[in-house]
Amino acid sequence: MIEALNQINDLSGGQSSGLPVRYTGRERGVVLTMHGSWHRGWWHGSEKAPRNESEQGIVDRGSFGVIDMTSHPLQCRCGTLKGVVHEPRSANHAVCWCRDCQAFAHFLGRAGEVLDERGGTEVIQVLPRNVVFTQGVEALACMRLTPKGLVRWYAGCCKTPVGNTLATPKLSFIGLIHTCLEGAPEVKSLDEVFGPVRCWVNSDGAKGEPKPKVAGMGRTLGWFFGTVVRARFNGDYRKTPFFNMATGQPVVTPRILSESEHVELKRAVLGTA
Ligand SMILES: [Zn+2]
Ligand SMILES: [Zn+2]
Repeated sequence: MIEALNQINDLSGGQSSGLPVRYTGRERGVVLTMHGSWHRGWWHGSEKAPRNESEQGIVDRGSFGVIDMTSHPLQCRCGTLKGVVHEPRSANHAVCWCRDCQAFAHFLGRAGEVLDERGGTEVIQVLPRNVVFTQGVEALACMRLTPKGLVRWYAGCCKTPVGNTLATPKLSFIGLIHTCLEGAPEVKSLDEVFGPVRCWVNSDGAKGEPKPKVAGMGRTLGWFFGTVVRARFNGDYRKTPFFNMATGQPVVTPRILSESEHVELKRAVLGTA
């Protein structure tokens, strides 16, 4: 287990700042942040992602019988890029207030649609295996705010954000951004399909005072081990539309922002542009 944690730490793109990784159950140990990096904190080992029938995508609706909720449409604003997300109930539904996520929304010129009033981005974390593009995949584009930042995916046709991954396919998760899941006509509420938001992170980046409370990290860690680490060991991480597994590189070369472009976006986030 410790070996696995160390491996994850190595894979986290240099964001771990060399913090020791320890598995200490209910004692003081490490906590996974939304972006795959680690920091010290309390982790309650008993908090595990729920695994029951409704979480697996089958919901009993009483007199309506059993409704199959095993996929949800994904679509960019203009309809060029289309796909589906399978096993929606296996997702971790979260809100990230970090300034980098806000900068990405500004980069796309979509801050008004993507960000909530405190600057939060609603993300649905799923295994890339569960994302299948059915149309317009050539429109898929990606960028990085810095050479070591997350790979941030979007539809190049209309600048609809798609989601964020690490720069390696080995820790396979994508934080899908809500806007690409709300584009198809007659979609159900994301809470209904993916379950309610259960994790709120990076409140330092939230606009206004007092800062909102961070919560749900224990659940996210449980989700991470039950889903992402499991996929690493059972080989499911190899099934991804975002990486070429032969090279380990993203299927599209990310555009890396120049320092001045990044500074400009940071100003936009802080409202000083
Ligand atoms: Zn589009
Ligand atoms: Zn973020």
